Amino acid sequence: MSQHRPAKDVTARKIAKERDGYTCQICGSTERVEGHHLFEYSYENGASDPDNIITLCHECHLMVHHGNADITMF
Ligand SMILES: [Zn+2]
Ligand SMILES: [Zn+2]
Repeated sequence: MSQHRPAKDVTARKIAKERDGYTCQICGSTERVEGHHLFEYSYENGASDPDNIITLCHECHLMVHHGNADITMF
């Protein structure tokens, strides 16, 4: 499996970050913010939607992926 990222997804991440003010939605940091998909690419078109992406800093993003942060409130 390649890690292909369609242009639509890049745009969706940008929209999501602007919506969140480039601020981590867990800790409020503005350092090294990244887009996280609430639902990963389990289905074809659902992931590339700003509603499916939240802005997280690098640290919180790692915690989410390691199962140490609860983002179900989003
Ligand atoms: Zn954070
Ligand atoms: Zn992620």
